[in-house]
Amino acid sequence: MRHALRLAGQAAAAGEVPVGAVVVRDGQVLGEGCNAPIGQHDPTAHAEVQALRQAARRLGNYRLEDCTLYVTLEPCAMCSGALLNARVARVVYGAREPKTGAAGSVLDVFALPQLNAHTEIVGGVLAAECAAVLADFFQARRVQQRQQARPLRQDALRTPARCFGEEGLVWTEGRYVSDLPTLAGLRLHYYDEGLHTAPAWLLLHDGVGSSYGLRHLMAALLAAGQRVVAVDWIGFGRSDKPKKAPWHTPQQHGQIVRELLHFLQITHCRWVAQEGAMAVLPPPDGGVWDWRLQGPAPLGAALDAPFPDAGHRAGPRAWAQWPRAAATARWHGAVPHDAATAQAQVGAAMEYLGAGKFLPPPGA
Ligand SMILES: [Zn+2]
Repeated sequence: MRHALRLAGQAAAAGEVPVGAVVVRDGQVLGEGCNAPIGQHDPTAHAEVQALRQAARRLGNYRLEDCTLYVTLEPCAMCSGALLNARVARVVYGAREPKTGAAGSVLDVFALPQLNAHTEIVGGVLAAECAAVLADFFQARRVQQRQQARPLRQDALRTPARCFGEEGLVWTEGRYVSDLPTLAGLRLHYYDEGLHTAPAWLLLHDGVGSSYGLRHLMAALLAAGQRVVAVDWIGFGRSDKPKKAPWHTPQQHGQIVRELLHFLQITHCRWVAQEGAMAVLPPPDGGVWDWRLQGPAPLGAALDAPFPDAGHRAGPRAWAQWPRAAATARWHGAVPHDAATAQAQVGAAMEYLGAGKFLPPPGA
């Protein structure tokens, strides 16, 4: 069941309702699955079905007679039917599902002697942990929905969504937060991807671009099993844009990052920044950045997309005026422009930085 819980965590990280399932025989894992109907565009892509498919393929047999399936949530009617068809010997589930559960909650498919002569059912194993994963997920999603609905402040602009989908630009939407103290209601756009127990990397763009320019780096870090947080500074990317340039100061931006890390409960992370950000922002505690990203980011149409008119450009105008200072970093590498380069860069950086200690954010 612990293994199934880890799979549920993977589903949550992908934005799916967190349910995980494992098929086991004689102590050996034959199949595993996490809930993925949204990502796979498949209403049948429940964790149980995925795990059954993998186990049946591995055994070369559509009957799984001596197998036990562990799943974090009581199976629905579809999965219960699939489990009976597979003649699984035993189904062990975690939390009860009062709205759709078909193993006793709404109906009990397994108790019908006309349908079932094969499958034993056991419920409530690690029920509290299994239910907590779901509760955390739905709680986070409610917060997220409230943030997305945040009204725009009078003294700010918000780039229309269509600007991010123009000219073949595929600029995915991440998360939003508005209730950090320094934001005072402005809506900050950021990404927070990967398992929350993994080492976190904070990616900061410069005063020209946006987190979109760091997408290859983000993808490579995620593929390497890391957690990635990337921010669109206020005034940039998908974040709200104050109309007046004086809103912007390096200290204010630095403070927002500290508050975001606190909000995300990240106490230690790798500090990765483009040169243009490192030169003006307050450095992390200890004064040393982890990774300086050199050269321009791959932006193309994304360079101008967030700024449909001059009124949106108060952020870049302010940044261009700030004094620049030398800043030191432990590792240097160009902003990757494609997946292969990013993978190589991340491999090298992780090898070099991996043994070191992650720096706490300033003031933590
Ligand atoms: Zn199901």
